[in-house]
Amino acid sequence: MNSPQYPDDTSQLYDQPNRFDQQLMLWMRTGHSPLQSHLHRVNRAPDPFCTHCSTQAEGRRHFLLECPKYETQRQALIDPILTANNNTRVDPNAVDVLLDNDNIKAVVAFCRETGRFHRQRS
Ligand SMILES: [Zn+2]
Repeated sequence: MNSPQYPDDTSQLYDQPNRFDQQLMLWMRTGHSPLQSHLHRVNRAPDPFCTHCSTQAEGRRHFLLECPKYETQRQALIDPILTANNNTRVDPNAVDVLLDNDNIKAVVAFCRETGRFHRQRS
């Protein structure tokens, strides 16, 4: 049976997050993601450390706010959110601010732009 032909990214038609974006959103909100600290917690990685900064655990805070590898993407997508919320990267609740409904789309865009989760399967 032939399926109708749709564009590869139907989210552009409906302005809804596609499946990968939904996956990224879930990963960031739950913390159950392919970041090293979670993989280590569930015995799927030998250690929790960031592969770029070997002495830092790669949790959400490190990925979203700290890892120097993603500084360019962070300046474009994360810093404007923090500034708009009178927040900074060192603020203890900065991650919570980023995961708020108003901001999660930009965080998903950040996740995409970093390429950190490409080729990952849930
Ligand atoms: Zn790092």
